Amino acid sequence: EAAAGMSAASDGGRRPLRVFFLPFFARGHLIPMTDLACRMAAARPAEVEATMVVTPANAALIATTVTRAVDAGHAVRLLRYPFPDVGLESGVECLGTVAQHDAWRVFRAVDLSQPIHEKLLLEHRPDAVVADVPFWWVTGIAAKMGVPRLTFHPVGIFAQLAMNNLYAIRSDIIRDGVAAPSVIVPGMPGKEIAIPPSELPEFLLQDAVLSMEWDNIKAAQLAGFGVIVNTFADLEKTYCDEYRRVDARRAYFVGPVSLPLDSAVHRGGDGNVDCLEWLSTKPSRSVVYACFGSWACFSARQIRELALGLEASNKPFLWVVRSEDSDGLWVPEGWEQRVADRGMVVRGWAPQLAVLAHPSVGAFLTHCGWNSVLEAASAGLPVLTWPLVFEQFINERLVTEVATFGARLWDGGKRNVRVEDADTVPAEAIGRAVAGFMEGGERWDKMRARAGELAEKARAAVSENGSSWRDLHRVIDDLTEANASRVRSNGDS
Ligand code: UDP
Repeated sequence: EAAAGMSAASDGGRRPLRVFFLPFFARGHLIPMTDLACRMAAARPAEVEATMVVTPANAALIATTVTRAVDAGHAVRLLRYPFPDVGLESGVECLGTVAQHDAWRVFRAVDLSQPIHEKLLLEHRPDAVVADVPFWWVTGIAAKMGVPRLTFHPVGIFAQLAMNNLYAIRSDIIRDGVAAPSVIVPGMPGKEIAIPPSELPEFLLQDAVLSMEWDNIKAAQLAGFGVIVNTFADLEKTYCDEYRRVDARRAYFVGPVSLPLDSAVHRGGDGNVDCLEWLSTKPSRSVVYACFGSWACFSARQIRELALGLEASNKPFLWVVRSEDSDGLWVPEGWEQRVADRGMVVRGWAPQLAVLAHPSVGAFLTHCGWNSVLEAASAGLPVLTWPLVFEQFINERLVTEVATFGARLWDGGKRNVRVEDADTVPAEAIGRAVAGFMEGGERWDKMRARAGELAEKARAAVSENGSSWRDLHRVIDDLTEANASRVRSNGDS
């Protein structure tokens, strides 16, 4: 420990800044954080050494991305720590790979990681730690080491601000066991945002485990050095300004970290690349891409309706079905033959970024996970929204009401963050929405144009001197300065 401090001091602080990145156990977190680590190392070669600190099975999911960065000459490393024993079979270490009924075990593993993180960080003594939202304890460990802790947010600012502001009034959302029909989100600059309680994450409505964690998370975020968010200012500008004012000591908006498109094909695991060839056989902008992220599940009945709906649309489609959902009999008899000329099903993992960038894809049917929203905007694709869980219904409102590059797939029944309380979306509605969207018309053309504008702004944001480019460099400058002053004060004492 002393030796590390001395060597930094003796070479004038010129050894690279060693930044550790600690992602939560889910691909929607792991993927953007790995991108971020690679972007930081690439932004300042020789000045930053980025280390992804992950459990073995999660390391396997990002290994290709890390290897590519290393081959490009960037200082990116992998450091593995054991996944806590929570009764999962070996090799199962993240939300999308555990069976739904075992998801709680992943959260148990989060709690059990605290002492492991502490030991590991004290042993390796990085100069700064970028840790994911649930790992609030890293703020305390970093403070003990005298180094900055940043919180990485894989969720956008609009949803974060909405959740923080709703959390503050949560006791008013449900009074005497009765939920208000709709809540106006307080403290949102600009347009009024209303949302029914059934579309809000459950921790805002009742004392779930996360409600208690939320206080720790918020306190750790405010006490820490700052936050890094995967978004870009032009997508949610007024909210970014407000967020800077109330929710963080320092805020850096560095996204989309998926741009520039470089290692698109193996991001988050080995994807099915045949679908890219298949796409190339289809006319320009003719295909609807349907994918619902890395872990949300559908009922068997809903999968059937979705299959029939895509068939009824009569449009070409590329549909990603998670392995867990595709087990057993999941589509109607004869369906695959009937759609064989215009539909492709990927079971498991698709190379989403490469798919979204493909000229044959014309629209994205998405669950509104934040990464998918951002990736759609970056690719200039309009979206049909079908939120399923957690903050996805809030993201949907950014897409459809504020940024206006998408529309709801269905409004004809009960929607609910609790999948078991939501109505099944009927095939007929899916078919009609997809067909209408793909056929175009003034309303859709406007959304397409708006998505195109956002794609240009996203590209500009990450290009030299763009807003995200500047924020990425500002993080590095601020951490470098914090490190230099720590080294100086260590030397003085
Ligand atoms: N993704 C992918 N292939 C798939 C499904 C998802 O590459 O078949 C990627 C997608 O590009 C995104 C991430 O996985 O980067 C999913 O994150 P998102 O926030 O959209 O959803 P979540 O999985 O967190 O629900």
